[in-house]
Amino acid sequence: MPPTISRIVQALEPSATIAMATKAKELKAAGHAVYDLSLGEPDFITPPHIRQAAREAMNAGHTHYTAVGGIPELKQAVVDQYRATHGLDYAPNQVVVSNGAKHALHNAFTALLDPGDEVIIPAPYWVSYAELVKLTGAVPAIVQTRQEDDFKLSVDRLRAAVTDKTKILLLCSPSNPTGSMYSRDELGALADAAIERNLLVVADEIYERLVYEGHSFASFATVRPGLQDRVILVNGVSKTYAMTGWRIGWTLSPVNVAKAINGLQSQETSCPSSISQHAAIAALQGPQECVDEMLAEFTRRRAFVMKRIAEIPGLSCAEMAGAFYAFINISEHLGRNYNGKRIDDSTTWCLELLEKQNVATVMGSAFGAEGYARISFATSMENLEAAFEQIEEFVGQ
Ligand code: PMP
Ligand code: GLU
Repeated sequence: MPPTISRIVQALEPSATIAMATKAKELKAAGHAVYDLSLGEPDFITPPHIRQAAREAMNAGHTHYTAVGGIPELKQAVVDQYRATHGLDYAPNQVVVSNGAKHALHNAFTALLDPGDEVIIPAPYWVSYAELVKLTGAVPAIVQTRQEDDFKLSVDRLRAAVTDKTKILLLCSPSNPTGSMYSRDELGALADAAIERNLLVVADEIYERLVYEGHSFASFATVRPGLQDRVILVNGVSKTYAMTGWRIGWTLSPVNVAKAINGLQSQETSCPSSISQHAAIAALQGPQECVDEMLAEFTRRRAFVMKRIAEIPGLSCAEMAGAFYAFINISEHLGRNYNGKRIDDSTTWCLELLEKQNVATVMGSAFGAEGYARISFATSMENLEAAFEQIEEFVGQ
């Protein structure tokens, strides 16, 4: 008899983004030409000055455990960045550096949630939120939003979803998977409702620097006075500096929450990678032109992706204000035959697109929105051009 897996882990959905990327990699390894639009990670290598800082850190002997929540210089660099960019005053003891923003989210949920508590998660949502909530025994309360509302949660829908058990509202802006972003006023209205109903807000702002012209980002903690007392900001270096593999993210939270997260992390992982922490300091404090250059390239790709989606009959997407995803409405192409095979849902559509046309995307159902497919355009223009040829051929059948 194989060992029994715990109930809580049995109930966990594995990450669909990572599952599709793994499938794509396997097909590639088997010799197929795969156009991989599945995983949201910049295709660029980490900028040279950041890599150099890591080399120097190793050579200087920074190869030991560090303070649990990160070395003081990195915490200070995070604090300085929030003061300079958003005018927010945080103290270093409110920062906990973790092994990526995903881990930071896990820490925040684990530190705050008891079994039975509810977390409001607007859908479409990033694949990991609901699962990380479930790991704590708490309950994700999914609230649908609509493409015609730019996939934004309205105050009315928020109010209607709050129960006596609601503890946290989760917001991701700019959004993975839709690229939509709340304005300062919209966040202000949500903040008022959160204050009125005494909710904590976990604000995932990992795409804050990847915002396109004509749109401006507001950090949730800045939209009303005193919000820092009820907000847990989640951020990191993975997306902004093309550092997904270094695994550095953080939370900024009220002191008692930071203390709890620190205690948790001391038992979980001891500390984030010492070398990566030094690289993250270089990222935050070094020249920022690399971010502008990457954003310029994402801007070019976004324009191409929006043009191609508009050109292909039956596909549509809301305009992306930030991040590097397009959440494509494929509903007109569901419920019909593809070479004699009927496709009714986004999972079958995405798997068939991968199998028949070698294009890897992620099914909308994994983000809580049937009738959609997510593509990441954090990949080369050549890859995107070829992938859209394939998508056009696929839906043209
Ligand atoms: N939040 C969002 C919205 C994301 O898309 C990601 C993607 N990885 C993360 C958090 C986690 O980032 P990290 O790689 O730093 O764990
Ligand atoms: N966040 C990225 C994505 O959504 C990376 C994979 C993951 O962590 O889910 O594709």
